[in-house]
Amino acid sequence: MGRIVAIIGRPNVGKSTLFNRITETRDAIVDEVAGVTRDRHYGKGEWCGKEFTLIDTGGFSFGSDDVFEDEIRNQVTIAMEEADILLFVVDVTMGITDLDEAVADLARRARKPVFLVVNKVDNNERIHEAAVFYGLGLGELYCISSINGSGTGELLDDLTKLIPDEVEQADDEGIPKIAVVGRPNVGKSSFVNALLGKERNIVTPIAGTTRDTIHTRYQAFGHDFYLVDTAGLRKKGKVHDDIEFYSVMRTVKAIENCDICILMLDAKDGIESQDINILWLALKNHRGVVIVVNKWDTVEKDTHSTKKFTEHILDKIAPFKDVPIIFTSVTEKQRLLKAIETAMMVYENRKRTIQTRHLNDVLLPIILDNPPPATKGKYLKVKYITQLKLGYPSFVFFCNLPQYFKDPYRRFLENQLRKHFNFHGVPLAIYFRQK
Ligand code: GDP
Ligand code: GDP
Repeated sequence: MGRIVAIIGRPNVGKSTLFNRITETRDAIVDEVAGVTRDRHYGKGEWCGKEFTLIDTGGFSFGSDDVFEDEIRNQVTIAMEEADILLFVVDVTMGITDLDEAVADLARRARKPVFLVVNKVDNNERIHEAAVFYGLGLGELYCISSINGSGTGELLDDLTKLIPDEVEQADDEGIPKIAVVGRPNVGKSSFVNALLGKERNIVTPIAGTTRDTIHTRYQAFGHDFYLVDTAGLRKKGKVHDDIEFYSVMRTVKAIENCDICILMLDAKDGIESQDINILWLALKNHRGVVIVVNKWDTVEKDTHSTKKFTEHILDKIAPFKDVPIIFTSVTEKQRLLKAIETAMMVYENRKRTIQTRHLNDVLLPIILDNPPPATKGKYLKVKYITQLKLGYPSFVFFCNLPQYFKDPYRRFLENQLRKHFNFHGVPLAIYFRQK
């Protein structure tokens, strides 16, 4: 079981409101990536220490008042194939509509857990009205009000029971899993084909069946890794290629299934908000990142071009700046191996563990010299630091008053970690806990 949760249902039942309720508080607290746009329809949720990726399918429909049933059907079908858990939202004030029936028909056939969420149950009387939805044949009802938040706790309690624990499973033979992600047409599939050779491009789609993300094993030039299949790899024979929603689902899923993301950009376009959204999701999922600026052959260059381009990107993705940027041309076969080698290096950085003793010897004197600012007349004190045993670098700072440690100081500590240990390309998780 993975961690991708999709919200499905017809328009106006409250999908976006629910999406915002589940993701917003958390995003507001931890969203340090400045360029992330508000109009993205995927976000991170967290409940009782479990993290998941939430997708609002409704966000992808145009002119939501007269969406065609076909379009909804398509989205629900894709969500059912690609997500791990479905939240099917209905509206208590409207009863069961034809479109609800249509979605329920599909949902009943999903071989995935479906939570039937009756929304707009803002008061107790409406709980009685909710009972009609048992008629959809999807089992238990979750009566909630996305507007006032009632009932969402119970829903999240049961939802997160299905989400795996944070500790990552022993990963396949320790072989890095690399996903090439990015907007359409930046050159992802050309890149993969150039690496794998043309014959490996022949992928047989199994019509009408649920497939899991495919990892292609690649061994050459002393490297051994998996490439994670994304939309670009399955161009042929797929019906939903042109749907933005499908491409986003595949991206989310690829990020979920990899250790390292190669985020590919088109040199002609620079870095755009969609790219930053993908980067944001990779970082939130604690994945390593390499930024690859492809089609470098199409740009007129002088001696400062790479430097200027690099600065521009780093500026846009601040404050996360500790990331390698490689300039490639797939058509001219420039630096393709370098991109892979860099991904392998980031993989090693992501696995790095620092001995507790060493960590404290290095950081405690720095903290003594640069103590956290006193807050509300209280002195803040870090006592010691340990690294958690997770699949990605995560550090706990034990201190007297964790609630008073704010973002700027967190960033200071992160920078110190980066300065003294090599975490190039890797997001760091930093927690404060009481001791
Ligand atoms: P979507 O099209 O399914 O994403 O629906 P929206 O989230 O845009 O919500 C549609 C309308 O229902 C908006 O006017 C919301 O304010 C309203 N709405 C959403 N959740 C609730 C709720 O729990 N109670 C009430 N009374 N209204 C809600
Ligand atoms: P994807 O949608 O990200 O998988 O992109 P494709 O691999 O399908 O590439 C889109 C287009 O860009 C194709 O016409 C490629 O031939 C072209 N392309 C890919 N890489 C390069 C490159 O490095 N330079 C140039 N000039 N074109 C490229």
